Amino acid sequence: MKTIIEPFRIKSVEPIYFTTKEQRKEILQKADYNSFRIHANDVLIDLLTDSGTSAMSSNQWAGIMQGDESYAGSSSFFKFEESVRSITGMPYIIPTHQGRAAEKIIFTILGGNGKYFISNTLFDTTRANIEFSGAEGIDCLCAEGKKPTVPAPFKGNMDTGLLRKTIEAKGAANIPMVIITITNNSGGGQPVSMQNIKDTRAICDEYNIPLFIDACRFAENAWFIKLREEGYADRSVPEIAREIFSYADGCTMSAKKDAFANIGGFLAMRNLELAMRCRNLLIITEGFTTYGGLAGRDLEAIAIGLQEVMDEHYLQYRIRSIEYLTNKLIDAGVPVMQPAGGHAVYLDAKAFLPNIPVDQYPGQSLVCALYEEGGIRAVEIGSLMFGKYDEQGKLVPAQMELVRLAVPRRVYTQSHIDYVAEVIIDVFNRRSELGGLVITEETPLLRHFTAKLKPV
Ligand SMILES: *Cc1c(COP(=O)(O)O)cnc(C)c1O
Repeated sequence: MKTIIEPFRIKSVEPIYFTTKEQRKEILQKADYNSFRIHANDVLIDLLTDSGTSAMSSNQWAGIMQGDESYAGSSSFFKFEESVRSITGMPYIIPTHQGRAAEKIIFTILGGNGKYFISNTLFDTTRANIEFSGAEGIDCLCAEGKKPTVPAPFKGNMDTGLLRKTIEAKGAANIPMVIITITNNSGGGQPVSMQNIKDTRAICDEYNIPLFIDACRFAENAWFIKLREEGYADRSVPEIAREIFSYADGCTMSAKKDAFANIGGFLAMRNLELAMRCRNLLIITEGFTTYGGLAGRDLEAIAIGLQEVMDEHYLQYRIRSIEYLTNKLIDAGVPVMQPAGGHAVYLDAKAFLPNIPVDQYPGQSLVCALYEEGGIRAVEIGSLMFGKYDEQGKLVPAQMELVRLAVPRRVYTQSHIDYVAEVIIDVFNRRSELGGLVITEETPLLRHFTAKLKPV
């Protein structure tokens, strides 16, 4: 087989900025060892997130020019609505300015004290919105999903046995919704199988609990189903996507992921009464029902991006480019989450830095080292992001200590990725020199965005 190439050519470029290692040491210190606090112009290769960082296509830019900025009934809204509906099959489509705005609305309505939301793994903003409402989020990830280096085809799957037990323990009446996150962002960008979605649906039906999908990476998940699940090799990606959504009562989505948009999101659902309640909140917090916190031009970009993302040449290149980096690291002995996920490479920081205890945040230490060594920005997905304190104020660590290198869509070329591999391998070869970090300042929710740290 020949090299799988970028299925696009480049019409417009933007510069990236070079710094020296000495400069980066100083920048890190000024940023309090938190990659979110580093100025973007001080970053060479930015793998902080794949969210809102995609390169839009010439078609999307053309759509931007055609945006209809009418307050009510904008033609851009109807294009957006039709695009979302063609994929999800859901009648009620509600635009929001991001995924978390959709979450805020739905959990304000369905959450509250004494309620439980069960998921394969809740993403951090999803969990935060659930907890902010007074409810509790519970993850029921399959066992293989918790073992970073054990390969399996669908490590994002729900543990359906545990789901059933949790429903029995908490009482179906206290569970307003089960949520499947595809792909599982916090668990390595690992996919969920169609069979698992069906099985989860069957359990939800038994207990009369609605099933929602956190659909941020639905196309990447659909591609994995096509590649790995029996019976789907000859089905088209749009067909697979429609089948996924056919099992759900609704979904939330961040258009900053698999819609190639720089901003945007939506809620979609089948229940009219719930949709009306969501729209009432939307008008208070986001805007009128036909723009929901977005400009008409954003709705155009999303409508077009949602269709482009299902192109099979694109998905083949996308998934292969993550696998390419993962395999280079595996060959060099670097501990990474296996198999490769859909949007990011996850380093296993616990195995990478066994000398740094979890309460000194080995993941964050590795994030800082990658920046210092090569100007690469990554993010910790471990105890800085998910750690809690017990009553004695002792850290309750996260299940895994991961470092995520999220790859923006259609942005970097193969030589950028080769450079990233070289930097990671350099850091790996001098890993015994790295030390831990302590937190000096933090907020109660989503502390990783703003926390300040310093070397031990
Ligand atoms: C990004 C993301 C969200 C939140 O979307 P925003 O647009 O960033 O608010 C929710 N769930 C998952 C799985 C995500 O990756």
